[in-house]
Amino acid sequence: MTSDPTRLSAAELADRLAAGELSSVEITQAHLDRIDAVDPKVHAYLHVDRDGALAQAAEADRRRSAGEDVAALTGVPIAVKDVVTTKGLPTTAGSRILQGWIPPYDATLVTRLKQAGMPILGKTNMDEFAMGSSTEHSAYGPTRNPWDLERIPGGSGGGSAAAVGAHLAPLAIGTDTGGSIRQPASVTGTVGAKPTYGGVSRYGLIALASSLDQAGPCTRTVLDSALLHEVIGGHDPMDSTSIDAPVPPVVEAARRADVTGLRIGIVRELTGDGYAPDVQRRFDESVALLTDRGAEIVEVSCPHFEQALAAYYLILPSEASSNLAKFDAMRYGLRVGPEGVERPSAEQVMAATRDAGFGDEVKRRVILGTYALSAGYYDAYYGQAQKVRTLVARDFAAAFEQADVLVSPTAPTTAFRLGDKLDDPMAMYRNDIATIPANLAGIPGLSVPAGLGDDGLPVGFQVLAPATRDELMYGVGAALEAALLQEWGGPLLDRAPALETMEVAR
Ligand code: GLN
Repeated sequence: MTSDPTRLSAAELADRLAAGELSSVEITQAHLDRIDAVDPKVHAYLHVDRDGALAQAAEADRRRSAGEDVAALTGVPIAVKDVVTTKGLPTTAGSRILQGWIPPYDATLVTRLKQAGMPILGKTNMDEFAMGSSTEHSAYGPTRNPWDLERIPGGSGGGSAAAVGAHLAPLAIGTDTGGSIRQPASVTGTVGAKPTYGGVSRYGLIALASSLDQAGPCTRTVLDSALLHEVIGGHDPMDSTSIDAPVPPVVEAARRADVTGLRIGIVRELTGDGYAPDVQRRFDESVALLTDRGAEIVEVSCPHFEQALAAYYLILPSEASSNLAKFDAMRYGLRVGPEGVERPSAEQVMAATRDAGFGDEVKRRVILGTYALSAGYYDAYYGQAQKVRTLVARDFAAAFEQADVLVSPTAPTTAFRLGDKLDDPMAMYRNDIATIPANLAGIPGLSVPAGLGDDGLPVGFQVLAPATRDELMYGVGAALEAALLQEWGGPLLDRAPALETMEVAR
């Protein structure tokens, strides 16, 4: 048994806390020490709240020793993606335009973390406003992949995935609009879960595309994701799209890890061409492991997935252009005056601020979205994309007639090198080819590690389930995790090269 709390899963930490073998202050301090030692190399965090986290930890310890009613995860610390508002803590969404903004309120999911007594270690790095697949679009510099510091940790939530993967937090919160929880999990050898749309409150999330956004867990094990899902999920009257039903039995499903008799559908359009051969091989081997455990494999076809990426890149920019209109230099963060203008008008200040405060990718999408929504083009672009969205949802409905869950590789490749796709937006967008359909249809998706590619880097396995049946994906993910644990003789992450010895190129 290891004595280093940063090596334990959240479930193991919860057990040690309950048994009185570790205190929350010890656990939290161990993570803060490791952040100090290792995060200068990884840059998973934009802001670390040392004092706040330790105070919350002390309070969690007090609650436990006073015999008060506590939650399973009371005292287990967590990192939160910087797109989630945290009262009194900087929240930038990775953008310069929000530099210096301190939210006056907590997102509902943060309130729930606090009620559960989970100390918040800090805020994690991300692509600006969650636009990207590599975290290179952050205004505050990229995050690095703990497996290879010259590689991307995925995006937009690369900070949360890297924090968990580098043992800088046992748990983290991510948000997934087109894959930003699942794709970072895939390339960092961690677990990422996007719940059913409406399963976790969006109140207090800085909106990217409101009809697609969903917050969820980033962890090292499937059970940890389920435990966290249970804390943050459930109805919230502050979010009109929140589902008014109990959280699906995700923890129970993760513990049972049973796929006996389950029909698992391989989506023809999400395999083969376009997926790296080693990624495809690890995927096929994982499917075989699930068959060994009693699952039945069927092949399904979702013909409209070919158009899903194009539809997403019209719907997302359209919603984003509208959501980002509020950053007008008057209400939040940055304000700059246009150069050389003595008494600038409000419009001039707004234009200068948005020019200075937004990065290239954000500007690209705001322009694209504004165009797609403009009179005369609306039907041809936005309207057409919405029709494709309906067809994608119908493809899923038909596929779920034949299969209980659907599976695919999470991402077409393992982690690419920093800089490789930065100048080629289309190449960057194609990373999300397998994750986007779930967001368009509002269904839940999970990424679990499926082993290593030929380059020694992690490969992700995606499980998709029908809306509100999140427990099904946890059951399959946990079964695969258990099978692979046996095959490898330990967690995949234990094979990651020692971060402590890696050099960072500047
Ligand atoms: N990479 C996708 C994009 O750039 C997904 C983003 C997300 O899920 N937030 O839009």
